[in-house]
Amino acid sequence: MTTFDEVLEQTLGEIDFDPDALKARYLAERDKRLRPDGNSQYVEVAGDFSSYVDDPYADPIERDALTDHTDIVIIGGGFGGLLMGGRLREAGFDDIRVIEKGGDFGGTWYWNRYPGAMCDVESYCYLPMLEELDYIPKHKYSYAPEIMEHSRNIAQHYGLYDNALMSTEVTAMRWDDGAGIWHIDTNRGDHVTARAVITAAGPLSRPKLPGIAGIDDYQGHTFHTSRWDYDYTGGDNAGGLTGLENKRVGIIGTGATAVQCVPHLGASAQELFVFQRTPSSIDVRNNRETPEDFADSLEPGWQYARMENFNRMVIGAKTDVDLVNDGWTDIFRNLTGIAAKRASEQLGRRLTGKEKGRLMEMADYRKMETIRRRADEVIEDPDIAERIKPWYRQFCKRPCFHDDYLPTFNRPNVHLVDTEGKGIDRFTETGLVANGQHYELDCIIFATGFEVGTSYTRRAGYDVAGRDGVLLSDKWADGLRTLHGMQTAGFPNSFHMGFTQGAVTVNVPQTLNEQAVHISHILATTRDSEATVVEVTPEAEQEWVDEMIDKARLGERFRAECTPGYYNNEGKSGNGNGFFAANYGAGPVKFFQILEDWRDDGSLSGCELRSAPPDDEAKASTT
Ligand code: NDP
Repeated sequence: MTTFDEVLEQTLGEIDFDPDALKARYLAERDKRLRPDGNSQYVEVAGDFSSYVDDPYADPIERDALTDHTDIVIIGGGFGGLLMGGRLREAGFDDIRVIEKGGDFGGTWYWNRYPGAMCDVESYCYLPMLEELDYIPKHKYSYAPEIMEHSRNIAQHYGLYDNALMSTEVTAMRWDDGAGIWHIDTNRGDHVTARAVITAAGPLSRPKLPGIAGIDDYQGHTFHTSRWDYDYTGGDNAGGLTGLENKRVGIIGTGATAVQCVPHLGASAQELFVFQRTPSSIDVRNNRETPEDFADSLEPGWQYARMENFNRMVIGAKTDVDLVNDGWTDIFRNLTGIAAKRASEQLGRRLTGKEKGRLMEMADYRKMETIRRRADEVIEDPDIAERIKPWYRQFCKRPCFHDDYLPTFNRPNVHLVDTEGKGIDRFTETGLVANGQHYELDCIIFATGFEVGTSYTRRAGYDVAGRDGVLLSDKWADGLRTLHGMQTAGFPNSFHMGFTQGAVTVNVPQTLNEQAVHISHILATTRDSEATVVEVTPEAEQEWVDEMIDKARLGERFRAECTPGYYNNEGKSGNGNGFFAANYGAGPVKFFQILEDWRDDGSLSGCELRSAPPDDEAKASTT
């Protein structure tokens, strides 16, 4: 009879690593990085730091302040807002307004234009509405300019430019229960009203800066990667940063963003210093052009089928075929339920929980050993290769895929400054101090990521007053409270998209599409019932909160052993606003099924409908 150890060996090959030693090393590396201030180590980009979030891409616009009414307002013109607008148009809603902070549609792809910016999730799954627009992306992994253009095309296709307010930030929202409308104020003095408001602000949209001593003292040039200063660097998304030819450049951070732009900085800067606190896991990318015959075999419905196939692969659900077949699906094939199912078949019985955990852990060690070996193979200097190796389990941080990042450290002008988990010591007027050594720098680039785990309203940049003036910031002070992540009691006709008690997917637009379909269904059903106000009941909300808490336990121990980062609330568990606290622990396949069953039931279960005064009376009450 085959034993579990034999199956383990058949699955993983010869075990040429010491799992106990690796586990001890992982915990030691985590401990090096733990710090008592957790998330509060970062500085809010406000006040003196506001210039870090100014829009460097939009031409200044002058316009009169507006005072008018639309049926539906969507806040945010990224993929969430685009999908929402599209699905609402398909459901027959004509009177829609998008309000967007940026100068155009695109969201994260509007802001993140840094050199090398691209999506590392397969484009045929990632770019929304490919079938609706009859578009096939140029590469397996799309570059930012193409994604931005596709965003504009979606907006054109669905008429979302009509009535849109660009370069406009919402500053406050207030519900008028008698009139059944929302009042929305903006930074351009607008005071507009709407029957319903959908917030699609994006989960990683507010840049964050490290709270490093002396940050104000530095006199050189600085910017955040999500506001790339091409006037200073020259070049574009494809590189050619000629402005840096005679510059000593520092970049802080080695996350997914830095991994994509460091190769271009290394190619152009006179000297590049990469300040590393925790190394990323860098797997092979292998991008390629879309084959000419790619579209020939596609049947209607192909994009949703491909998204769903990818989603099932990465969640470890049963699938007969791997349509995407890339670094992501390779990881998940080996590290999730798919591997466990394979092992069960070989063993002729179900694995015990302990066996399953051991298989996953061993497969994880194997995978990360491959990642670490790649550093040895690619990087010529063994000391740098050693320092750039990640020592944690694969999903402690977001996996990265890139073919040019590691070789960049073979350039003589590129220097890795490994701070061994400590980060930068301080800024000076002329540069940075790290490991006690001063680095003179002409320019410092913050690749330090985005706020996660702070309050929802702080990230949105405005507060929302619901019925009786109750503030959303107060209601969600100890954590989110929603039905299905989209509605919350006391805030009628308002909906949230993104990671707010729904399911996190690797392919984020799939979640956004499911939410857009769902919200559109709720609004259409409300309209068809000749009601104008829909609100979730406190009881339905509580049931979902209980379900979220119940399922949240999955993965908590795993994350506690991880090196700190935004996935585990910087090493401090128990934050009701944290990244995974807002994630449905039973996964997206189950979550999407729950939504579909709820819609099929047709009764808007857990919601109450009522009629407020007709629109013209509502409009009359707007002043
Ligand atoms: P991250 O939050 O992933 O990375 C921030 C980096 O800054 C980390 O390396 C962090 O170190 C470092 N850092 C923070 N403070 C300090 C300090 N005081 N001293 C030194 N280093 C510091 O941000 P990114 O912008 O890289 O990525 C954010 C997310 O955006 C990704 O996780 C991904 O979800 C998404 N993204 C997706 C892409 C795609 O292709 N689809 C491409 C790019 C980004 P430490 O790790 O120690 O905290």
